[in-house]
Amino acid sequence: MKSANSTMSSLGTTVFEVMSALAREHSSVNLGQGFPDDKGPEAVRAAAADYLLTGHNQYPPMMGLPELRQAVAEHAKRFQGLDIDWQTEVLVTSGATEALGDCLFGLIEPGDEVVLIEPLYDSYLPIVRRAGGVPKLVRLEPPGWSLPRQQLAAAFSDRTKLILFNTPMNPCSKVFDRAELEFIADLCRRHDAYAVCDEVYEHIIFDAHRHLSIMGLPGMRERAVRIGSAGKSFSLTGWKVGYVTANAELMKPIAKTHQFMTFTTPPNLQWGAATGLRLDDDYFDTLAADMQRKRDRLAEGLSAVGFDVLPAHGTYFVTTDFRPLGFNGTDEDFCRHITVKAGVTAVPVSAFYDEPHAAPRHFARFCFCKHDATLDSAIDRLSQHFGR
Ligand code: PMP
Ligand code: GLN
Repeated sequence: MKSANSTMSSLGTTVFEVMSALAREHSSVNLGQGFPDDKGPEAVRAAAADYLLTGHNQYPPMMGLPELRQAVAEHAKRFQGLDIDWQTEVLVTSGATEALGDCLFGLIEPGDEVVLIEPLYDSYLPIVRRAGGVPKLVRLEPPGWSLPRQQLAAAFSDRTKLILFNTPMNPCSKVFDRAELEFIADLCRRHDAYAVCDEVYEHIIFDAHRHLSIMGLPGMRERAVRIGSAGKSFSLTGWKVGYVTANAELMKPIAKTHQFMTFTTPPNLQWGAATGLRLDDDYFDTLAADMQRKRDRLAEGLSAVGFDVLPAHGTYFVTTDFRPLGFNGTDEDFCRHITVKAGVTAVPVSAFYDEPHAAPRHFARFCFCKHDATLDSAIDRLSQHFGR
């Protein structure tokens, strides 16, 4: 038999699937894969349910329901001050994952260089490589995860087609500030490169941090692609409704990819997402405040157990250093160990690196977007196990 595609065949199963399966097998409290246990806003679910029963459940327009595209444009104006033409500059996708695939397949020509920042979300590298891109990786170092400007500048060249990055950033919970975004924007302008920015956690942001889209910086309106997800903004990760915003020219190859990947996304879920994006500011403020409170609850609990908990400025996650607990083994060993022996699941941070073996191996990522009772039960189990 002929061999299948080598890039895809060489991949393992994603860490989220592996750890969630292990969590189910051991009935552990799953703080690995990032999904809330809240049901999500009722108005959003009711809108989707109502549309399912009474709406038009046939192929929606390829770019997405007009109501959702309009809502995405209004939302960009409200939160980022961006003027977006909903007809030519917004595309609805089946999750941010499809959006990322559409952008990478639509923009990369084989041999193009693509700058990426480690630690990174696990779908990025396989798709960049499958699209024929040549990854140029730049690493953020814990515990500050600050942007290594010299290395980043050195990673850019005239062969750079684009930089793909994520803010607020999974897994290290960093939020890029204006100065860092300006530095990236300057490199993009100087090297005639695009910036594809994964902004799925734009509303899960804490303390005094504010989400800034690189698209709003001078000269970036034409060069930036912004990706959002209803899964994250409305605590409905199973819906897989994403949206891409880009200038009309840049959108064309991205939309061409979407038309042959999925073509459309379930219309009732698009309708629900439109309702969500139009919720008032109070909804978005409360979402961030609730998540911040959960972050604090889990972080305090994990510190009391003995973990060294790194600061988390956004996303669903806290990164922890487990060495103070005296565990001798890798992060993968640790996450398996606590799943099986303590009944709590986390994910190893080395899974967010191109070469896990050459990555830091002493960090576990815990997810806090859970009910208080779930977080407390995880802390109780860990305290008992580690004797605190
Ligand atoms: N990007 C990041 C950084 C993520 O954490 C996730 C996780 N869901 C995604 C993209 C994918 O989003 P979606 O579920 O909308 O496909
Ligand atoms: N984004 C989620 C996380 O980082 C997982 C998404 C997935 O399972 N593919 O945990």
